[in-house]
Amino acid sequence: MKVALVNPHWRFEGSIYFGCREPHLPLEYGYAKVLLERIGAEVLIVDGHLERLSQEEVQSRVASFAPDFTVITSAPSYLFWRCAPPELRIPIEAARDLREVGGTLIAVGPHGSTTPTITLKKLEVDVVVLGEPEEILPLLVQKTAGEWRGIPSICYREGDEIRVQGGPHAGDLAALPPLRWPRALLARHPHHHHRFDAPPDGAGAEMETSRGCPYHCTFCAKDNFRDDYRKRPLAAIVEELDGLIEAGATYLYFIDEIFLPNQPLLEAIAERGIRFGVQTRIDLWTPPMLALLGRAGCVSIEAGVESITVEGRKWLDKPSRLSTDEMVDRLIIAKRHVPFVQANLLDAQFDDPEAIERWRERLRKEGVWANKPVPMFPYPGSPDYVRKWGLPDEAAWERAHEHYLREYETFSDIQEERPIPLPMLESHGSK
Ligand code: SF4
Repeated sequence: MKVALVNPHWRFEGSIYFGCREPHLPLEYGYAKVLLERIGAEVLIVDGHLERLSQEEVQSRVASFAPDFTVITSAPSYLFWRCAPPELRIPIEAARDLREVGGTLIAVGPHGSTTPTITLKKLEVDVVVLGEPEEILPLLVQKTAGEWRGIPSICYREGDEIRVQGGPHAGDLAALPPLRWPRALLARHPHHHHRFDAPPDGAGAEMETSRGCPYHCTFCAKDNFRDDYRKRPLAAIVEELDGLIEAGATYLYFIDEIFLPNQPLLEAIAERGIRFGVQTRIDLWTPPMLALLGRAGCVSIEAGVESITVEGRKWLDKPSRLSTDEMVDRLIIAKRHVPFVQANLLDAQFDDPEAIERWRERLRKEGVWANKPVPMFPYPGSPDYVRKWGLPDEAAWERAHEHYLREYETFSDIQEERPIPLPMLESHGSK
């Protein structure tokens, strides 16, 4: 049996997408490939983004492979499941292109995990996986369409009915294998994600040491995937890390939702002399652990402060045991050990704009960068969405997008100047 795992050729024009546009390693497909091969499947990853393939090239590679199943993702990589492009334009195009050549079509990603039925309809795929897909795919491909009743975390058509079977899946991280990426593939990945201290001096890579996050900030779209906090075993992390270094990586970005202080892990990384970046909460780090983080090779910290007031953080459900001033001190200590430290701010429309500017300036003088507050997109799958409109239904993405375009007159400087309404984006995709 043959399975193609397809990351489409992503384009972002007209999108409000604010994540990084560079390609990153498709970690979810890396794990899925190993688990599928363990049950005897022949697997081909076709990464239109990383390999910079046109849509036609993606289609032709899949056609030559002639798979029984083709998996299509709705986010550029696991790194961006929490901030994927809201529109399904690119996956719609990919599914259309692969309909005749890809066998049974399976969709994975944040959209199907949150709103499975509309994702099934828009993409016109055969089945959608809810949640983390690595362990579900081997179950799915061992059955034919008529035999999917016992499989958890999927959505599919049965006659005239659309069945949603179980909730989003959370994987057993301890059971996922250490990934091995070929040197030739890493050579195509010069990007060092969120690194600003030095230009790339070799291949970049991404990996995870944990998955999920124990917190529930209102703006964070992770309720339906990568939610429960789980750690990978140290032995698996170290094996993967050594493989990446051997294959030419000189910088790693740990995609963990929240990279928590972990002394044995940091000591193991320190021995290897690689540079890396993380995203975390600064209030969870003590000064000695920040010093160890720097010694281990961390060159980039992205820390979500979100609001400069207790009230703002409370509104965002991101309370901290540190006061705002204590967080500033902690960020400044971090900067002594790590070359680039960023304090993320969100536009919760709560804090005084002049106070924000004074706060940013104070940090800037200490070498810590705080971005201009970024408009919040109320992602379906975030507590903020539920607070506004209740549980996401089939119109959730359109509703959130329309609200966002109405609410914010100016956008972050990494977004398109004039985003296009979601239905228009998707209708262009469906031809
Ligand atoms: S701490 Fe970070 S990952 Fe966790 S819920 Fe808040 S924003 Fe999301």
